[in-house]
Amino acid sequence: MDCHELEANLTEFLEGELSPQEEKAAVEHLATCQHCETVLAETKAVVATAAEHGQEELDPQTRQRLFQSVLDSSNQ
Ligand SMILES: [Zn+2]
Repeated sequence: MDCHELEANLTEFLEGELSPQEEKAAVEHLATCQHCETVLAETKAVVATAAEHGQEELDPQTRQRLFQSVLDSSNQ
């Protein structure tokens, strides 16, 4: 798995929706990639903040928008 694939699967990874093989590949990539580790940590923080504000069930558009904002800021 490369950075692009991981970013494409990150929300599924966070929700445990990847297959065992995909999850293993994602974990292995994260262990070797500082960029994706940072993106993952920031995405988790954003999701946790949203949950604190009573939005435990983020709709897909909101989740994607938050995720994209993390990606945009980490790619600057
Ligand atoms: Zn990466």
